[in-house]
Amino acid sequence: MELKVLGSGSATPQLERSPAGSVLTVDNFLILIDCGEGTQFRMLRHKVKISRLRYILISHLHGDHFFGLIGLLSTINMQKRTEPLTVFGPKGLDEIITLQLKHSGSAIGFPLFFRTVDTDSPEILFEDEVIKIRTFPLMHRIPCVGFRISKKVSKRKILSEKLPSNFPVPYYNLLKNGHDVVDALSGKTYLNSEFTTEGQPEKIFSYCSDTIFDERIIPFVENSDLLYHEATFSQEMAERAYMTHHSTASQAAIIASKAHVKRLILSHFSSRYKSLDHILEEARAVFQNSFLAEEGQSLNF
Ligand SMILES: [Zn+2]
Repeated sequence: MELKVLGSGSATPQLERSPAGSVLTVDNFLILIDCGEGTQFRMLRHKVKISRLRYILISHLHGDHFFGLIGLLSTINMQKRTEPLTVFGPKGLDEIITLQLKHSGSAIGFPLFFRTVDTDSPEILFEDEVIKIRTFPLMHRIPCVGFRISKKVSKRKILSEKLPSNFPVPYYNLLKNGHDVVDALSGKTYLNSEFTTEGQPEKIFSYCSDTIFDERIIPFVENSDLLYHEATFSQEMAERAYMTHHSTASQAAIIASKAHVKRLILSHFSSRYKSLDHILEEARAVFQNSFLAEEGQSLNF
């Protein structure tokens, strides 16, 4: 999987940092997570192919996390998309977007689905052979959820150079799924252990947009390969973080450390900080493998 950061600022507009938006690449499709104002322009700038979007996840309805959605959907509509697109978000999002489309005379010409997430209890939003998307409640000033997106263990990898060139196609699937194959004609047995290797292990990405420091989220983000966690403030503003239901850098790092994640990416920085050196230093004092989100940056895991 790959995460591309499109914005790392918090609510107040900043020239140096854009509002929330991240794109997760899973195989050949994209998941957009949060969509602050102007997200579609940053998708263009950083060469994110809008046509490959399959899901949009909105964590909560503060403007810096979804004010870019109507613009993006209008653009997608102009691109004559035919593929379905599903938007997951809190109660009210469907109503807001539908009203905007109605009064702007925009008829959506592609299959657009809205699915309301439960902001009170964890749930599985979506699952297929490749991915699983789960939500968990975050404590913020309005209903808000975090996401845990896992790419499942892939099927076994076939060592095709070891197989005869006329090896029947249906046998490939049997090998991929971990079975031994007995060739009906020759009677020869192809042992799975000899002709395949392990597939890709499971990969986990967790996303905590806006939240007060809350250790109850630890089980939901546990063992993530990459954890995205807000760090609006540094620790000397802990009181302010508490009052506004946000987190500090060291609080984000405590979550990362206790959840045994591999890497932490900090984001949603307050406009009061021109330099973020102290934010990074503060997080690394607790959890060494911490990084600052930066627009345009890509992280593979
Ligand atoms: Zn918020």
